[in-house]
Amino acid sequence: MQIFGKKYKIIKVAKNELDNDKIGLINYRKGIIYIVKDLAPEVWQETLLHETIHAIDEEMVLSLNEDLIRRLSCSIFAILKENGINIEFHN
Ligand SMILES: [Zn+2]
Repeated sequence: MQIFGKKYKIIKVAKNELDNDKIGLINYRKGIIYIVKDLAPEVWQETLLHETIHAIDEEMVLSLNEDLIRRLSCSIFAILKENGINIEFHN
């Protein structure tokens, strides 16, 4: 996928490959988003949205903390869903 012109590769990983029970991780320098495989489709989408907000935070120098990013991704995802807006990410 592409965020502000920067390409990110999405790589599915096993749960034990990410630290601290994380299910998603973004590496800005490498341009890679890691997401645990076999998540329920909605969890997968929300996780990708969460990592995308990390990228926005980084690019826009927002200095959001993890808790704010979690609340933002959760609420944006809920609003999209409530309004029947489906987000599909393409690699
Ligand atoms: Zn996060």
